[in-house]
Amino acid sequence: MDLYEYQGKELFRRYGIPVSQGRLALTPQEAHQAAVELGCPVVVKAQVLTGGRGKAGGVKLATSPADAEEKAKGIFGLDIKGHIVHRIWVEEASDIAKEYYLSVTFDRGTKKPLFMFTTEGGVDIEDVAENNPDALAKLHIDPLEGFQPYQARRLVYGAGVTDPGEQKQIVSIIGKLYDAFVGCDAMLCEINPLIVTPDGTVKALDSKFTVDDNALYKHPEIAEMRDLASVPAQERLAKEKGVTYVKLDGEVGILGNGAGLVMSTLDVIALAGGKPANFCDLGGGGDADGVVEALEVILTDPDVKAIFFNIFGGITRCDVVAEGILKALERLDIAMPVVVRLDGTNAEAGRKLLADAAPPNLHVEPTMLDAARRAVELSR
Ligand code: GDP
Ligand code: MN
Repeated sequence: MDLYEYQGKELFRRYGIPVSQGRLALTPQEAHQAAVELGCPVVVKAQVLTGGRGKAGGVKLATSPADAEEKAKGIFGLDIKGHIVHRIWVEEASDIAKEYYLSVTFDRGTKKPLFMFTTEGGVDIEDVAENNPDALAKLHIDPLEGFQPYQARRLVYGAGVTDPGEQKQIVSIIGKLYDAFVGCDAMLCEINPLIVTPDGTVKALDSKFTVDDNALYKHPEIAEMRDLASVPAQERLAKEKGVTYVKLDGEVGILGNGAGLVMSTLDVIALAGGKPANFCDLGGGGDADGVVEALEVILTDPDVKAIFFNIFGGITRCDVVAEGILKALERLDIAMPVVVRLDGTNAEAGRKLLADAAPPNLHVEPTMLDAARRAVELSR
């Protein structure tokens, strides 16, 4: 789960990482009020779950409350890489002498958290990684030993920070960022820019914070930060119904049981010359109601022209899935073609149920490849 800048900064604050005072605004009037409370100048910042806001015109300096309101008017509704701005963070403007970059994420190769730090921070960090990788100092943390300050000192000296005051503050921030990373079960904590003000104070001017979805149950207060409006309607519905759903850009809707089978179903659709519109994983269960709910999710996708049910019965019983399919066809009044391949436990019984009911738009195929070909053909 990705957090907005202001939410990430709230977590930074809890872990003692210095950030500026700010207020959330949902209307230009609230931005005006925030600027009054904070005192000007302020920065007016679009809150969207993507980077590059500065370059897209989503970060503006304002010199008065009226100016903040005006700037906010221009930013609300802005489309930044497909994300529409509905929230604005108004924060006390900082004077910037230097812009550094600091992040911690997982290095899956070494199976350790990895810190990256460079004095060449700011909006063009991707260029630094590509064109000047030596400027990016790296540090792996052994998860069993935990964070050791001497390692952070090596990172900071290695990146060429020579001012002792800066060194001290950054080393402390690295330790706190590691605490936040571990404490929140994060996948990524990034500060870009980590600024140094003209009087030598170091603080986080931006935040990118991603928390592991699988750990959210341990952090109800972070789970609550999720902005449902930022999740596409279908994914929201899928989540409510407890089905795994992923949107893709083709025409065939895919339902399978188990991640491995679903992945190979995507391949076989491609092999048959088609493109998946989405996929739903029923998981290991696949009772009749589960099938109905998954179909409901898939049907809300207007791109779907045909549905491919690919079921391999292990614990899942094919006759139960067949009942679910028939129930769904009846209850949801589905007119579009549904292609079914059933194999494994009780496949015979399942196929018989489908053959006996024989709805006109239902096509039962004997193999996965036959079914994929049929689904692709029917989606045209
Ligand atoms: P991003 O473009 O989405 O990464 O948004 P940031 O929060 O990093 O802001 C982009 C840039 O705006 C920063 O690199 C700064 O140069 C500038 N900026 C943001 N806040 C302030 C501020 O308080 N004062 C000044 N002078 N510039 C700021
Ligand atoms: Mn940034």
